[in-house]
Amino acid sequence: MPVESVFSQLEPLLPQVRKPVQYVGGEVNSTVKAWDETDVRWALLYPDAYEVGQPNQGIAILYEVLNEQPGVLAERTYSVWPDMEKLMRVSGIPQFTVDAHRPVGSFDVLGVSFSTELGYTNLLTALDLAGIPLEAGKRTINHPVVLAGGHAAFNPEPLADFLDAVVIGDGEEAVLAVTRLVRAWKQGGCPGGRDGLLLALAATGSVYVPRFYDVTYLPDGRIGRVAPNRPGVPASVRKHTLLDLDAWPYPKAPVVPVADTVHERYSVEIFRGCTRGCRFCQAGMITRPVRERSITTVGAMVARGLAATGFSEVGLLSLSSADHSEINEIAIDLADCYEGSSVGLSLPSTRVDAFNVSLADELSRNGKRSGLTFAPEGGSERMRKVINKMVTEEDLIRTVTTAYAGGWRQVKLYFMCGLPTEQDEDVTAIADLARKVIAAGRTATGRKDIRCTVSIGGFVPKPHTPFQWAGQCPPDVVDARLRKLGAALRADKTYGRSVGFRYHEGTPSLIEGLLSRGDRRVGAVIREVWENGGRFDGWSEHFSFDRWSAACAAALAETPVDLAWYTTRERDYGEVLPWDHLDSGLDRDWLWDDWRSAIEPAEAGEVEDCRWTPCYECGVCPAMGTEIQTGPTGDRLDGRRLLPVLATNGR
Ligand code: SF4
Repeated sequence: MPVESVFSQLEPLLPQVRKPVQYVGGEVNSTVKAWDETDVRWALLYPDAYEVGQPNQGIAILYEVLNEQPGVLAERTYSVWPDMEKLMRVSGIPQFTVDAHRPVGSFDVLGVSFSTELGYTNLLTALDLAGIPLEAGKRTINHPVVLAGGHAAFNPEPLADFLDAVVIGDGEEAVLAVTRLVRAWKQGGCPGGRDGLLLALAATGSVYVPRFYDVTYLPDGRIGRVAPNRPGVPASVRKHTLLDLDAWPYPKAPVVPVADTVHERYSVEIFRGCTRGCRFCQAGMITRPVRERSITTVGAMVARGLAATGFSEVGLLSLSSADHSEINEIAIDLADCYEGSSVGLSLPSTRVDAFNVSLADELSRNGKRSGLTFAPEGGSERMRKVINKMVTEEDLIRTVTTAYAGGWRQVKLYFMCGLPTEQDEDVTAIADLARKVIAAGRTATGRKDIRCTVSIGGFVPKPHTPFQWAGQCPPDVVDARLRKLGAALRADKTYGRSVGFRYHEGTPSLIEGLLSRGDRRVGAVIREVWENGGRFDGWSEHFSFDRWSAACAAALAETPVDLAWYTTRERDYGEVLPWDHLDSGLDRDWLWDDWRSAIEPAEAGEVEDCRWTPCYECGVCPAMGTEIQTGPTGDRLDGRRLLPVLATNGR
């Protein structure tokens, strides 16, 4: 049966809400297919507002990959702001897609992409508005399969009650594999009902169905065991790894937003994965190994993406873009191609390296300078050694001197506070560093108007990293250290006025820590917060620490665990971690040894990048059946070669 659009009910509400344009759809490159000409239908949810979710690269890729398939339909849905939620409840309007305003509850699969754990409560709002029971076990054959992915789904245990299935790793091939299974199950008359489909997904070994695993706990609250509770379900679930990025040049023609969004540009991921080995970095660890996109594919994607969207900015994205084996050639050739046009090129510039400045100079030939950011991450040399970010003070001064001398007037320096073994002086050292940066800039330029902004984030230990065993620094300690740093910067009459200082208070990081390393018992906390009005927890104006602490006290009252147990407690080697049965490919003993190397000075040692040194056996390549994929290819781009469209890949 065709499913009706809810737009006629929605339209009268639009003048009553903030930013109504975000709900209307109809964007360039959006896709609307006839419902009854398709047999597998996906709603893709980004659990945050349109302005954040619309530019999300993961959703953009899956939207195209799915819609390119005959018989498959994919539409997007985002979290509605609380003003719209209230009106939708009063008017009985369900969670809808922005493409055709179809009710999300009518789709076969609701795919949810989590970039941050603070989006978890927004999932519950979307499910509830969609009329989908919050608890996975209460859903029937008429409800969509709620399937999560994204970096913040690598430990989905806090959401275990609410999710039917989880895919960890790269989504491109995974969504097609899920689509094939859903189609076969529907065509076969839905054998085994809802559990039959979930069992078929779980049996692949790479889709996690939380309900098919039982968790037992020890009297002290730690996990005793996680084990499958039915035949055919594997003891551990594998990460998906896309082996050939050139064969998957998505997004080709991303949707162009109609409302303001956080980024309005065409983004190309120039490589996936990172092997620099920063011990705090979950993204780097879980996306290993490095797989480069070739210079020719990058060039062709840029040419086609710009033509398809009309964007005038291109972002060359990855976790450490300057590390692409042919980044110099990419930067020079793209800058040559677009010189004199209105196209701006940018690279997230975080590596502390003068080479990064010359790349930024190259990319900004058209006159657009988007600012330079460098991330030493740790304030003192000792701290940087602990986190395996081997940047010396000389490296930083040399880099910023090159930038200021090259005409950049402003640099941003990014650090973290609350890292393992950190002391007050590791944080106040940031003030000395900032002073030296400004002094070097004034010497290099002879000017007084140069500036640097020090931006600080609170460290949160993440699953699948060497710091997964660390105790999180309590927020009052983080806040006190940052107050000392602020005082040290303000006290400096010579340089202090040239230094901007940005930080957030520590409590949201503590809750992110709870959700990142929580187990299934945290699901009751999420639900309690949501029932008490928790929405958009990633937004400081909506976040309430009091609501989260009260929910922890209430929901965990009958257990031996509490908020501090989940966050500030250090774990030992023998403890079963909630995500141990989810295989990111990283060898657990390698992670443990790296953790000990970080915190035991006698052991301290640098882990180099395995792109340029021998493999140090983190485990990922053999586990994923792949290897590091880097160039150089020796190819170059020119204006004539940029335009030929990529060969269609036959899918
Ligand atoms: S297995 Fe070896 S080569 Fe592969 S990512 Fe790990 S350290 Fe690098």
